[in-house]
Amino acid sequence: MKWTNDRSDNVDDRRGSGGGGMLVGGGLGTIIIAAIVFFLGGDPSAILNSGASSGPQTEQRDLTQEELGIREFVRMLTKENEKTWANVFSQNGIQFHPAKVVLFESATSSGCGTAQSEMGPFYCPNDETIYMDMSFFNELQSKFGAKVGQFTVAYVLGHEYGHHIQNLLGTLGKIDQLRQSGRYSETDMNRVSVANELQADFYAGVWAKQTDSREKILEPGDIQEAMSAAAAVGDDNIQKRAQGYVNQESFTHGSSAQREEWFMKGYNTGDIRQGDTFDALLK
Ligand SMILES: [Zn+2]
Repeated sequence: MKWTNDRSDNVDDRRGSGGGGMLVGGGLGTIIIAAIVFFLGGDPSAILNSGASSGPQTEQRDLTQEELGIREFVRMLTKENEKTWANVFSQNGIQFHPAKVVLFESATSSGCGTAQSEMGPFYCPNDETIYMDMSFFNELQSKFGAKVGQFTVAYVLGHEYGHHIQNLLGTLGKIDQLRQSGRYSETDMNRVSVANELQADFYAGVWAKQTDSREKILEPGDIQEAMSAAAAVGDDNIQKRAQGYVNQESFTHGSSAQREEWFMKGYNTGDIRQGDTFDALLK
């Protein structure tokens, strides 16, 4: 993909700052459901439940040139999300404010308890912040078979930004209410979770389309990279690799095919009104 010249000031790079040892988690309860984990490689509730966690200690050090380049790249992507969503919101007469993005390594504190690399990138609505350890992208390639490139990062950040958009539009709050009402079974709530995650994929597609229309960022192969990542983090692919079989009732993010489908729907329409995954999936 091509880079633009804009950079966001909403990126907090905590890599190289040392620490990560004793981090005190926030209050529990809603936190477990509050953190929207990008994919479930393991059990996020176990991690979030740990409260005061003693993650691996990291040494204070200078960042490498490559890491500084990644920071620039993430600042650029964050700015392009801010510009695109500010446009979409103002066209619809809605107030927009940007999310924060934290880059970390191994562990850091978040408004949803201790963030750890194993959780994968996630959005915490409590502090409206996206947490991302870049080592996730190595795993995406080595463990889940994605073809990873720059646009893979753009897709993942776009997906997490999509959760911020859902937060601003009140969607996450409504889901929280459903869950807390206790009226729905785990299977039902898993279906709601799938609709929620597919909508974040859809928003990532809308972002890609609208940003490309304005900035001409896309190069041949970029959309295929996003599709490869979307397929890699489909629940069926993750379950097959982790346990050797697929249990659709326990899906929380959608199948590989669904994730590709909704990203492409967002990309092809570029219109947020076409992204009612809840209506499409829960009827
Ligand atoms: Zn997600």
